Amino acid sequence: MSSVVEFRGSFRYMESGGDRLRRAGRGIWYDRCGEVALAEHDNPKCDSCRRGVSCGFDCTLSKLVCPRCGATA
Ligand SMILES: [Zn+2]
Ligand SMILES: [Zn+2]
Repeated sequence: MSSVVEFRGSFRYMESGGDRLRRAGRGIWYDRCGEVALAEHDNPKCDSCRRGVSCGFDCTLSKLVCPRCGATA
């Protein structure tokens, strides 16, 4: 079972249950057209992640691109 944990533009971040202890790359971004988005992670970690406590979001995400319809966020 997976759940949506974050939204950005037309994209939604799906995380599968039981993976909450894994921090980086624990979920997958999907565009609203259903395609898996290409994610770039160039942002610095937030304060809580820098201390080793995951904030629960994909805070290092810098850009999302949909390879099918060209949407970006
Ligand atoms: Zn964070
Ligand atoms: Zn798309």
